[in-house]
Amino acid sequence: MTHTTKQTVRKEQLLSAYSEQEIRGADFEASSNPLLKKARSPEKPFPRLSEVETMRHFHRLAKSNYSWDDGLYPLGSCTMKYNPLVNERLAGDARLTHAHPALPVEHTQAVLRIIFETEEMLRQLLDLPGVTLQPAAGAHGELIGVMMMRKYFHTKGEKRTKIIIPESAHGTNPASAAMAGFETIKVGARENGLTNLDELKQLLSHDVAALMITNPNTLGIFETDIVAIKKMLNEVGALLYVDGANLNALVGKISFGAMGVDLTQLNLHKTFSTPHGGGGPGQGALGCSARMLPFLPANQLRRAGDKYEFYDPEQNIGLVKAWYGQFGNILRAWTFMKSWGNAAHEIAETAILNANYIRTALKDTLTLASTEPSMHECVFSQDGLTKVGLTTANLAKALLDYGFYAPTIYFPLNVTGAIMIEPTETEPKAEMDLFIAAIKEICANAEKHKAGAQETFVTHIDETGAARNPKLSWH
Ligand SMILES: *Cc1c(COP(=O)(O)O)cnc(C)c1O
Repeated sequence: MTHTTKQTVRKEQLLSAYSEQEIRGADFEASSNPLLKKARSPEKPFPRLSEVETMRHFHRLAKSNYSWDDGLYPLGSCTMKYNPLVNERLAGDARLTHAHPALPVEHTQAVLRIIFETEEMLRQLLDLPGVTLQPAAGAHGELIGVMMMRKYFHTKGEKRTKIIIPESAHGTNPASAAMAGFETIKVGARENGLTNLDELKQLLSHDVAALMITNPNTLGIFETDIVAIKKMLNEVGALLYVDGANLNALVGKISFGAMGVDLTQLNLHKTFSTPHGGGGPGQGALGCSARMLPFLPANQLRRAGDKYEFYDPEQNIGLVKAWYGQFGNILRAWTFMKSWGNAAHEIAETAILNANYIRTALKDTLTLASTEPSMHECVFSQDGLTKVGLTTANLAKALLDYGFYAPTIYFPLNVTGAIMIEPTETEPKAEMDLFIAAIKEICANAEKHKAGAQETFVTHIDETGAARNPKLSWH
């Protein structure tokens, strides 16, 4: 039953552990190049290894990594999907990677066209009049959105100090609101996981600038009352901000314009290709309604005849990013959307089908966190595991033994021992079946899995020690 990826048995050590004094390569000491001499100074001794040992060390480390190329990557709230190689090919095209951002716009028209077309495709997908690709990532998009709201009220001569945020929200939402100088207020959820409208009504006043809500929310369910919520906000003149980081369930299916959204940030690195989670740059997008257009950041892109040029919106909040954003990621998103063409809605349909397939298959083994139908991800609580004597962490570690990456655990915070699974639209059924079977087998053999992972390169980690007393150097 175990999956095909087997970790190397060798316990890989730091390069310095393999170092031997006798090993020597080029004689840097004798070199006339001062930089090379400095690199080999006695105060900073480098490990001494042959080339083949060095190469094998890094290759073994690379093999003990888990990636999308190995199997299912079920991390919820993060959308770890397969990224087509054609997108990578284009992102590496030297004609584009060598285009220097400081070139005059006459010489970067092709680059500007790709950025403009990406913004245009997103305007259509969201059904909103404004989209900018200046946010460097999701949280940056939130901050820009909140700064635009602040300027909007400032221009109207209104002093609003509060932003309401549901308790299940991603941590970046309250952080962005606070960074822009707002006080954040928590609104709770009803039994079924949807926003509590009575509580919201109590909290609304003319001090409130906006509601910042995630839809589908962090339990992976759609806030069906969104139109009623918008009406309530209108009554006190507050704005609607939707965190659209995880658009997978809505692509091509929902009009953000019809929902009455004033601002929304998307994460291109979650929904629109770009390998994610590897520590590389992200890329955000910020969409806005007509009344927010004048407040967009400086340096917006527009088309004038057959040319592309930059302009500053009337009441812009200033410059928020140098140059053109993370162009490599914009290029991947452009390729991704072009290759989906008019069929982008199938992304949402398949992502929802896959999440509900896993939900249904596991609903009697684990305990669902909500009775509402799932969108792109399904969330379970720890209750089902507790019955067989396991914790959420036990399940996550045991899955590593089965050759899978673990799902998101202990988030959202309002679900005890949450297990959040997002298979995405790119996961084949056979792989999901293996994953489901692994979870069932783990629960059926709970005793064996109480001790954590057995087969991995490192079996027991002192997590508290690692967090409290991190050793960040080999010394
Ligand atoms: C990932 C995520 C963010 C933050 O995006 P970053 O690109 O990591 O800054 C915000 N909100 C939600 C719901 C997310 O899933």
